[in-house]
This record gives sequence, C-alpha cells and structure tokens, in this order.
Amino acid sequence: MSALQRKAGALHLEGVALEDVARRFGTPCYVYSRSMVEAAFREFDEGLAGVDHLVCYAVKANSNLAILDVLRRMGAGFDIVSGGELARVLAAGADAGRVLFSGVGKSEAEIRTALAARIHCFNVESEPELERLDALAGALGVKAPISLRVNPDVDAKTHPYISTGLAGNKFGIPYGSALEVYRRAAKLRNLEVHGIDCHIGSQILEAAPLEEAVDRVLALADAVQAAGIRLKHVDFGGGFGIRYRDEATIDVAAYTRTLAARMQGRGLKVLLEPGRYIVGNAGVLLTRVEYLKVDKAKRFAVVDASMSELIRPMLYDAWHEIVPVTQSARGEALAYDIVGPICESTDVLGTGRSLAIAGGDLLAILSAGAYAMAMASNYNTRPRPAEVLVDGDKAYEIRSRERVESLFADERTLDAAMKP
Ligand SMILES: *Cc1c(COP(=O)(O)O)cnc(C)c1O
Repeated sequence: MSALQRKAGALHLEGVALEDVARRFGTPCYVYSRSMVEAAFREFDEGLAGVDHLVCYAVKANSNLAILDVLRRMGAGFDIVSGGELARVLAAGADAGRVLFSGVGKSEAEIRTALAARIHCFNVESEPELERLDALAGALGVKAPISLRVNPDVDAKTHPYISTGLAGNKFGIPYGSALEVYRRAAKLRNLEVHGIDCHIGSQILEAAPLEEAVDRVLALADAVQAAGIRLKHVDFGGGFGIRYRDEATIDVAAYTRTLAARMQGRGLKVLLEPGRYIVGNAGVLLTRVEYLKVDKAKRFAVVDASMSELIRPMLYDAWHEIVPVTQSARGEALAYDIVGPICESTDVLGTGRSLAIAGGDLLAILSAGAYAMAMASNYNTRPRPAEVLVDGDKAYEIRSRERVESLFADERTLDAAMKP
C-alpha cells in the first residue's frame, strides 16, 4: 500500500502535502514515509514469523539515523559494510549484537572496532580475511563469530553492475571451495563458525534465482554440518527488487512464508539482508523547475536537483517516475528531458517525460528512498539536500541541508597549509 496519494490534485505522502514540505524545508529535498518503511519491514518479519529469524536491514541503502531508528524500534538487525556504518547504527541506538558486517575489504581498524563492539557476525569474503580476523581476535583475546559469504554462482538476472552472485565476481568465496575454507576456519583458534551467507545481487525481480541460491546454500550447510562443523544460522542476503516503473516484483510476504516453511525443523536461524525493498518506494526527491529551455531538437526542464543528489539514472541507467506535485490545468503536456544544473551531459534525471509544467513548478521524483541520498555527492560544491521523515500528518527534518562553508571546512589555502 502506497502512502503516496493525490488529494484534490495535491500530492501527499501520508497526511502531509509535499508542497508544504518544499515550502518549509526548501528544494531539493528527500522525503520519506515512516509507515511505508515499517510496512515493508513487516512483510519480511511477519513472513518469517514461524521460524527463528533476524531481518538485518542493509544500511547502505539509506543510512539516515532516523530511518535506522525507525527500523531498530521494529526489532530489525543491521547489515553494515564499513566502520562508518557501524558508528551510525550504534549512534541510532542499535544493539551491536544484532549487527552483521559484510564487505570484501574490511580494514584492520574496522575489524578491531567491530570485535570490541561484539557484533553478531562477520560475513567473511576471502581466506586472507579469515586469517586477519583470527589474528586480530587473538590479539584482543576474543572469539570472532564468522559466517562465510559464498558465491553460489547463480544468475540473478539483474543489471550486470548490481549482480554479485556469479563466478568471476569480486564478492564471496567460490561455491566449490567453500567446504575446504570451512574446514580451515574451524581449525583457527580465535574464530567461531556461526553460519553461511550469500547475496546474489540487487533489484532482483524473479524468485527463481533467489530460490536457487537457497537450494545451494542449504546443500552446502548440510555438507558443512556433515563434516562436523555446527552451524547456527543461514543468511540468504538481500536483493529484493522494487517497482520503479511497471516491473512485476517478488511477492515478499509469500516468498518469506515459503522460506519459513522450508526452514522448519532445521534448527537454523534465518537471516535476510534487504535494503532497497525496505526504503526504496518510501522516498521521493522534491525538486523545483528552474527553467524550461527549448532547443531545436529538444525541450529541457532544468531542475534544482541533479546527479549529485540522485546518481542512479546516470550510474545504472535507472528509470524514476517524475510527476508534478500539484496538478494544474495548465496547457498541454510536452515531452521534456529533466536535467540538473551540473556541468556534465550525463546529468539527466529522466528523458522524454510528458509533463504540463512551467518554470517554478514543483516535481517529485519517485521511488527515491534507496541508493539515492546515500550516494549523494558534493560535486560542483553543491550542499547535500535536507531529508524529511513524514509520520502521519507530521513532517520532521531528519537531516538539515548542508551548509556551503562545511563543504570546505577541512581544506586549507596554501598559506594555511604551509604554516608550521
Ligand atoms: C547491498 C547489500 C545488501 C542489500 O541489497 P538490496 O538489493 O538493497 O536488498 C545486502 N547484503 C549485502 C552483502 C549487500 O552488499
């Protein structure tokens, strides 16, 4: 159920008119719906209700403290990929015992901090990482809980840039050598083997590849346990796709219910790591039309958002729906390319969009809750936008717009740098 609805022509998120949000907090501005985040989380959590489980939200999709806090209150765990994300989830009040640490390049400092915090588990992606983890845990006099991220070599049938589960990918331990690596891990004195993990890609729209990965992970779990290594959990990762345009998505409630039934009686806790699905549809990016510009060949709507606020269209060729916030009776719809102010020809948010608009109009770029603000940059010295969380008929600023001075606060002129 979408909380994004028109009331008398005016686009609302929950009970709040987006026109009012733009007036109060300015544009560009990200706005999220608390109820939509909660509803998406519930699909996983309730689907798995029949088995011991932990749904670990993948923080990198949207790492705002308020979003983390909303999920923490619902009992979510967190999947992190950096020391920075660990600091964030702890700042949001999360229990370190519900945190998974994924990623191919964990540094010594990051591992030490996570060991000291007593996180739930490290998803280990290579043998050298296993050795580093063993050494650092030994030095700290603790046991490191580990799970191996295996690469099940299944095709997630998604965009190659966001596919991670095929052989030849940098992620995970090759399926064929996993059992050997488990045997090694079990012998390392400062490690404690807890589980198996996989994550085959993102924006996956078919259940079949996910189910194939489940089959392969469970077959490996059986082999590992048969080798005398006891496992506590299996982690099937994230990757659940959302509707940006007209995609048919996986029925997550049904998928997780089936998964729970399948895991019944195995004595293994089930972990999932959804990111995009939890926050993607819950967010919009508000932007104002600065100019309409007509060229011989094209019409452009130059807006005040750009690839520095939303890089997905340029990075992944992603499509986001773009709609007027207030429907007016103004003239006929014309096809526009929606472009930002950045000095790059790739600074395009949408092409050939049929809109009846004028300069000064407010637009909403939809499904912008995931991998949107989290990927925002300061290119062209643009302060990153404000973020707002809508809860019923209230709107809360959960991040203030960056100030220009703070963008170069850590820099020095030559004179200052040369001072002894
Ligand atoms: C990015 C990532 C996720 C989340 O992926 P989504 O497609 O957003 O669900 C989960 N696990 C790992 C290891 C990741 O890198």
